[in-house]
Amino acid sequence: EAAGTEATGGTLVMATNAEFPPYEYREGDNVVGIDVEIGEAIAKSMGMELKVEDMAFDSIIVAVDAGKADVGLAGLTVTEDRLMNVNFSDPYTTATQVVIVKDDSPITSPNDLEGKKIGVQLGTTGDQYAGDIKDATVERYNKGFEAVQAMTQGKIDAVIIDREPAKVFVEQNEGIKMLDEAYTEEEYAIAIKKDNEELLKKVNTALAELKSSGELQKILDKYIKA
Ligand code: GLN
Repeated sequence: EAAGTEATGGTLVMATNAEFPPYEYREGDNVVGIDVEIGEAIAKSMGMELKVEDMAFDSIIVAVDAGKADVGLAGLTVTEDRLMNVNFSDPYTTATQVVIVKDDSPITSPNDLEGKKIGVQLGTTGDQYAGDIKDATVERYNKGFEAVQAMTQGKIDAVIIDREPAKVFVEQNEGIKMLDEAYTEEEYAIAIKKDNEELLKKVNTALAELKSSGELQKILDKYIKA
């Protein structure tokens, strides 16, 4: 019942994975966060209602491609691989991948990850980066915090994950830290079905308005502490 092709009215279905604070996470029964507020603002400017569908991270692009969701809004990094299956809106923010280790870890830079056991969230760009590290064993988890848990339990040596959720997980867990040195910059954007150029245009127009009015920055500042 995706309705992204309708001009006005109807429901804008947003596929996400509510395991990625502060972009999307659960507060009681509700999914909240930066991406939900961006989705709501975009739906509103198109005269639509937003409906959030919480699913496994690696199902999001599939759901958009299959037309089961209108937009994928999940801190999604624009990658060449994903661009083969979906379109991306203009970017709405930049991000980096960081390394989380135990406070007493001998790993002090991403260069020390060679041959190590690295935890990632399945299907993320962190998963990709980890796969490129020489002789590393990559352990894939459905949720980022499960990777962090495995590390605190000593099952793996490090976690590669996006900086903002990393900050939240480090805050919530004793004895772990984020390395200063990060991977290169990425851009987050909204995934849209390939043949739906009309929705892509509308979303980009709505995003441009959110940027120029300052509302996008307000949403980011509400959730991201410097
Ligand atoms: N930015 C990363 C990616 O797109 C992680 C996103 C996420 O876990 N929600 O792969």
